[in-house]
Amino acid sequence: MEDNGNNIKVNDSVIEYSGFTFLLIDALDSLNVDKVQFNNAVIVDGKDPDFIRQIVRRIRSNNSPDIYLKPIFILKGINIIDPFVNKLVDGTIFSLEQIEFIVPTVEKILTKVSDLKFTNSISFEAQMIEKTINFMYTCDVYDLEPVPYVYAGINYSYPILSVNFRQSEEYIVLDILDIAEREGIFESEYFDRIYLCSNCSNGHLTYREVCPKCGSSNSTTEDIVHHFPCGYVGPISDFKNEIDDQLDCPKCNKRLRHIGVDYDKPSILHECKGCAHKFQDYNVKAKCLSCLTDNGVEMLKGREIRKYKLTKKGELAAINGFVSTSKDIEEIIGTVKFDTFKTMLKYEIERLRQTEGSSNICAIHISNPSQVYSKIGSEVQKGLLKDLVRVIRSNIRSSDVITFQSSSTIVLSMNEIPNRIAKRILEEIIVMLKRLMSTAFKNMEVDFETNVMSLDYKLSPELHIQQLTKDFK
Ligand SMILES: [Zn+2]
Ligand SMILES: [Zn+2]
Ligand SMILES: [Zn+2]
Repeated sequence: MEDNGNNIKVNDSVIEYSGFTFLLIDALDSLNVDKVQFNNAVIVDGKDPDFIRQIVRRIRSNNSPDIYLKPIFILKGINIIDPFVNKLVDGTIFSLEQIEFIVPTVEKILTKVSDLKFTNSISFEAQMIEKTINFMYTCDVYDLEPVPYVYAGINYSYPILSVNFRQSEEYIVLDILDIAEREGIFESEYFDRIYLCSNCSNGHLTYREVCPKCGSSNSTTEDIVHHFPCGYVGPISDFKNEIDDQLDCPKCNKRLRHIGVDYDKPSILHECKGCAHKFQDYNVKAKCLSCLTDNGVEMLKGREIRKYKLTKKGELAAINGFVSTSKDIEEIIGTVKFDTFKTMLKYEIERLRQTEGSSNICAIHISNPSQVYSKIGSEVQKGLLKDLVRVIRSNIRSSDVITFQSSSTIVLSMNEIPNRIAKRILEEIIVMLKRLMSTAFKNMEVDFETNVMSLDYKLSPELHIQQLTKDFK
């Protein structure tokens, strides 16, 4: 039988083609996206731009990778010019007969999705970073560029990240990008600067020149005229008469002839229609269209809009799961910041240079973190890390310090004890940790790797930590 191109069968909104299932969504369907998870890709009928925007938002802002990472195609009825939607879809087709052309894209995206390990991130920020880099990785997009967008609360959108936020909260996107850059997930370059409302951080502002006395934007402006022969200075209305359009000096009654010759206009004068105040310089105010605060421009919050690029570290974070930001683990009581730890280590190394003594650093590493973290929610994770710290703390001296190098690697100091004692203490800690883990997780093995190292005053703090953790998986 001849293939006439009409062999595309739609069965209950699903097309099976080339081993994949495509969910067909049209404008008459509800915005419920649950069905997306049971199919390999989505085709949205493109007749209604509002519906397209809403359904694409619903899919991409979902928290389940089974939904937000699915390839989306628009079956074009009209041109899609919305720049936000364009960044969130994987292509367009003009008729269902063209489905064969999108099969390679679907195949490629689904293969890349299968590279990823999904974890439960500890914090909201970490979760948003993970979603963003997962999407970028699966689409082979390494640039996260700001798109000027009138519907964005801050006038620029980073579609795949911004899609998770209501318009009034979109400024949070900038904070998350800052965090991600500090974590080494992105590197960035300057793109533009924006100004946000001092009260609600919205970027939809209307700028007006207002009366410095009462703040009204309702005013009139006229030129000030200086008549050279008599020296009179006054608003131009003083010089006007009711008969012709010539100017006459109110002081000396002479007719003004040529500007620059017998008179000039040295400045302008504004008169407020609200309070009749006369003034030469306006105040500039920016009224927020969201909360109606009339901001003095000096009060606006300036923020940089930057272009981001996914780093190699970011790519690996997508593949292995991005569990937490440094801020999340810094909040765990009983630990110090990683930078603080390095500083203290530097002093201890310096002290050893001058005195005979033996001090150590130790590391405990969970070698299957994504397996562990994917099984538990973020609150439980925080609790788990707290418990780990509590067990370690109870085995070391109060002068020793604990830090997290990452959510899976804990580094601690054991100062002024012989190396073999430090090793023995660490072994005891691991026994206790294993006991703790087996009560917390019935059906899961948590694998620990450890290392202990004597401090050597010839090595820098960085080299110590590198040596200490280099063999961890
Ligand atoms: Zn006024
Ligand atoms: Zn005059
Ligand atoms: Zn506002």
